[in-house]
Amino acid sequence: MIPFNQLKPLHVLHADEIAEAMQRVADSGWYILGPEVKAFEQEFADYHGVPYAVGVANGTDAIELALRAGDIGSGDEVITVAHTAMATVSAIESTGATPVLVDIDPNTYTLNPERIHEALTDKTRAIVVVHIYGQPADINALKAIADDHDILLIEDCAQAHGAEYHGQKVGTIGHFGTFSFYPTKNMGAYGDGGMVITHDEALADKLQKLRNYGQTTRYTHKSRGTNSRLDEMQAAILRVKLTHLDSHNERRNEIAKIYNENLNGVIKPHVRKNVHHVYHLYVIRATNRDDFMEELKDKGVGSLIHYPIPIHLQDSHRDLGLGEGSLPETEKAAKEIVSLPMYIGLTDEEVLRVCSAVNDLRG
Ligand SMILES: *Cc1c(COP(=O)(O)O)cnc(C)c1O
Repeated sequence: MIPFNQLKPLHVLHADEIAEAMQRVADSGWYILGPEVKAFEQEFADYHGVPYAVGVANGTDAIELALRAGDIGSGDEVITVAHTAMATVSAIESTGATPVLVDIDPNTYTLNPERIHEALTDKTRAIVVVHIYGQPADINALKAIADDHDILLIEDCAQAHGAEYHGQKVGTIGHFGTFSFYPTKNMGAYGDGGMVITHDEALADKLQKLRNYGQTTRYTHKSRGTNSRLDEMQAAILRVKLTHLDSHNERRNEIAKIYNENLNGVIKPHVRKNVHHVYHLYVIRATNRDDFMEELKDKGVGSLIHYPIPIHLQDSHRDLGLGEGSLPETEKAAKEIVSLPMYIGLTDEEVLRVCSAVNDLRG
């Protein structure tokens, strides 16, 4: 069986370095917001070429706190997509703001900038763009719109650590880049973790307070906040992971290349010009998708759907008032997409076996 994903091979690859980092934290006697988080924030900021990075508890909080730092809340509208992890929309709603969902570009599955104008109202305060599957969205077009309308642009980079758009790292183009270090992401912790990056000192300062109950100095609070901290153990592990991020992304690209060169009878990922795609997921489209996945499973190949039910069609979000047919490309994609195995530790030979299984069925 070739599973859709597994994390153990990646651990084994770096086991000694990870063990050393964990031991260092255990021995230090300092477990929350200490030297490891500080060092990791600096290293993550340097990797992106931005001055500020603020560690938070997870990728959902990263989006929520970025919006809050931008003073977005009740009565405001935030434009995003329905083709994403629920987290993107939950984070917007946690601020009290209303998500306004727009359709995607069917080739890249990312927010279609042409759909923004019909979604803009005088209440629109931000756009949260998702670099889904590891491919940068059309961020320059979105930045131009955000600048024109004086609204905030937040890049949800939870699936795109290290991806680049026209030579610029994702997360550095909008006002904020938000990251998740959930274990299955391209850069995963051994638990939960998140990060917000920004060029703006005042916004970074606000984020630092927000994540720690609004505290300025010990037991002094000038504003309200919450508890959303990255812990020392995760930070120490993530410092190790950051040093391997580029090589892991290279390996993901090698795997994608083998898929691209050997798969037949399915629609393969379309990659924009001038981007560095980091293949968090390798997503194809197949006809009779559900049967196809069952048949793949019978051939010993695991697969998943990211995501089978668009947010606006989830029972939880029917009250947004967007019925079936309102986001046609999103809904069509949800019926056709399949994510094939993609992880560090997957061998070339296994990728070729996945290709043979697909080609036996559809080639
Ligand atoms: C994983 C993910 C998140 C949320 O991250 P958590 O760390 O699980 O809170 C947000 N957006 C997208 C696109 C994701 O894939």
